[in-house]
Amino acid sequence: MTSTNNPPPTAPWPYPTTPLTVLGGAEVEADGDNQTCVCGNDSFSFDWMAADRTGRITFEGAGSSDGDECTVCPVCGRVYRNADLVDATGDRLAPALAQYDTTAPAFLAALRRYNRDAYEDQQ
Ligand SMILES: [Zn+2]
Repeated sequence: MTSTNNPPPTAPWPYPTTPLTVLGGAEVEADGDNQTCVCGNDSFSFDWMAADRTGRITFEGAGSSDGDECTVCPVCGRVYRNADLVDATGDRLAPALAQYDTTAPAFLAALRRYNRDAYEDQQ
């Protein structure tokens, strides 16, 4: 299935966003196991975070196969739709829907909560 120019979710993003200066995207290796964001982070370095359909970061979405849910790069804050990541093989890039402000307290709090839920972090 080809899905280009997906409209962004109609609800506002749950965290502050920054203007996408570089639209960018993510490449996915042919086996689909590793994803590399345009910022250079891949899912083997800093694990990407699952988010729900509204872009809210939640560990409950980890491993979800729902194409309308999102994945967030924790390094640069870019938000991708799962279905786009699945499609992004070969020379196809998954378009970033938005980019969160990675310095925003709400984003950092979500990151900490996610890591705590995922890894029982010390903090
Ligand atoms: Zn990134």
